[in-house]
Order: sequence, then C-alpha cells, then structure tokens
Amino acid sequence: MSIEFSQELDTAPIISPRQMATDGAEVGLRPKLLSDYTGQEKAKANLSVYLEAARRRNEPLDHTLLYGPPGLGKTTLAGIIANEMGVGIRVTSGPAIEKPGDLAALLTNLNPGDILFIDEIHRLNRVVEEILYPAMEDFAIDIIVGKGPSANSIRLDLPKFTLVGATTRAGQLSAPLRDRFGVSLRLELYSPEELSKIVTRSATILGMEIDPKGAYEIASRSRGTPRIANRFLRRVRDFAQVCCDGVITKEAADMALQRLDVDHLGLDAIDRRMLTAIIRHYNGGPVGLETLAATIGEEAVTLEDVYEPYLMQLGFLTRTPRGRCVTVSAYDHLGIPYQGQLSLGL
Ligand code: ADP
Repeated sequence: MSIEFSQELDTAPIISPRQMATDGAEVGLRPKLLSDYTGQEKAKANLSVYLEAARRRNEPLDHTLLYGPPGLGKTTLAGIIANEMGVGIRVTSGPAIEKPGDLAALLTNLNPGDILFIDEIHRLNRVVEEILYPAMEDFAIDIIVGKGPSANSIRLDLPKFTLVGATTRAGQLSAPLRDRFGVSLRLELYSPEELSKIVTRSATILGMEIDPKGAYEIASRSRGTPRIANRFLRRVRDFAQVCCDGVITKEAADMALQRLDVDHLGLDAIDRRMLTAIIRHYNGGPVGLETLAATIGEEAVTLEDVYEPYLMQLGFLTRTPRGRCVTVSAYDHLGIPYQGQLSLGL
C-alpha cells in the first residue's frame, strides 16, 4: 500500500527558525518557570542571581537584553522573568511601534514592576528609540502638547518597569540603547541532549507517546533550535500514526524527516545547495554573501539568519574578511572529494 503524506504548505523552509503559521499553539509549550527552561545554563545561572537580588531589594529587575538567533527561547524567557518576579508582561515588537505615541501609550499603561517586552528591538525607529532613553533611565517621558509656537513639553512620570529587549542582531543596536541595558544575556544553540529533553516535554504536553531514540533523532536534526524541534515533532506525529501505532520512534522520525528532505544532521536542500555552490563555482571560497545569494537564488538575509549560524556551528562554513569558505568536513558530508588546498580567504 502506498500512502501519500501531505507536505507543509508554508512557503518558508521547514527548517526556518522563525515562527510559522503552522507552528500552532506554541504558547502551550512555553515553560513558565526557570526550572522548566532546559539548557542555556550560563544565561540561566546569571539570570537567577539577578532575579533573586531584585526580589530581595523589592525592586524591578534591571533592563535586560536577550540576544541570539531566532527560535532559541527569548520570548519564552521574557515570560519566565515576569512569572518569577510575579509581575505582568506586555509584549510588542520593534516594527509594531510606529510612532512615539504608540510607545507612550504602552509605557503609561504599565503597572509598577511590569515587564515591557520588545521583540526585534533593533528594528525600532530612531524617533521612538529616543523616547525610550529617558523612559529607561529616569522612568519618565517628555510629551509635546499642542503645535507651533504654543507647543509645550510636559514630563510624565512612569511607574518603575523592566524593559526586556530581544534581538537576533545585537550588533545593529545603537550604542546609547545598548548601554541602557543593565543585564545582557546571550542565548546559544542547544545540544541534541538538551533538545531531546525539550521534545520529550513537548510530546508529553501534546499527549504523544515518544521513545528516547525517537526524541534524540528529532533533536539531532533540529539545528540546535527548540522551535524547529517542536515543529518536527508535529510533522513526525503524522508518520508515527501510520507506521508505528502512534508512538514516536526513531523509525517514524527518520521517515518523516527524510520526506521533508532534512538529512541526518538537519541540513535541507538549500543548505546543501549553498555548500555545493561554494565548492563547485568558487572552489571552496571565499565568496561574498551577496554573490553567493545571487548564485543560488536566495536572499542574502535568509542565508545569513537562517542557514549560516548552524552551518558555522557544525564547522562546515567559515566567515572570513573576504567572504564565506567551506571546510573539509563539508566536502565529506556532501560526499564530494576534496582536492587540494583550501584558500583561507584571509
Ligand atoms: P524566540 O523568541 O527566541 O524566537 P521563543 O521563545 O518564541 O523563541 O521559543 C520558540 C519555541 O521554542 C517555543 O514554543 C518554546 O516552547 C520553545 N522553547 C524555547 N526555548 C525553550 C527551552 N529552553 N525549553 C523548552 N522549550 C523552549
């Protein structure tokens, strides 16, 4: 009997760490307490000290910047900070705050101690960002009332609050904004063991039966990213129902991920195209990002945000001042014979 499985209809690649419509109820999978938040041991250890100190002083936590690639748990951590401090949270994002008035409305509606979470904070526009400076520093904003010569500036006091900013690109934050964050935490890609725990926990919440090898198979192909692991889990469930009595086994995971064209290290067709293009057209590199993007018909920003962090973590790709280079391990993985010295591109 041959069975047709429906493919993902989202246009974004299945391995995209950005949120997709088909990710469904992510909210239910988000841990609520620091103790349920797997991995990120360094960030967690520091954060728990800052949280404890703030609680003992009975003060809000210092403004906190969370940075790292998408899908690693920045929004989740902001929610955990609010829960651990026992305060409310307002969630917004840089591009959603268009005018100074939008930010003023958010800030004046906060209760004392609340968290204001701004995702993609590097995309705030300059005018809005300037309102944020006195808000973060002095818990006050200056509002202009009236127009023309009769315009007046009124200073409005705000409740003490904590700004939690998240960004995938800490380097794009302006220095004055970056300097106003007392705490800065960097999130790293997760190990397969950590992702196994996350997948097992998510499966339990979603009422799925999973065996440890099934969890590990999904984890080791999820590019160090919990959002991708949870997405794969949902895809694998369909296959498990058909092949393995609904239990998520290694076999079900392998079958599903092969159909999605995700190889045993988590690389998809675009990763392979990208590496192969550098090898075939540029003799292993160096090649500039824009040139590479044009060669394979993808956007440079997608290659940089979605593909490169994991390829670099695997040690398949290096960034040099003259462009991207592939390593000998990438040749091995693709089964392309490595001939001759690689240029270091320095
Ligand atoms: P980001 O804001 O960095 O893009 P999110 O906080 O939205 O990422 O996390 C994406 C998904 O991954 C969420 O559904 C969350 O449940 C899951 N997740 C992220 N980090 C963890 C973690 N440390 N433990 C368990 N689940 C996590």
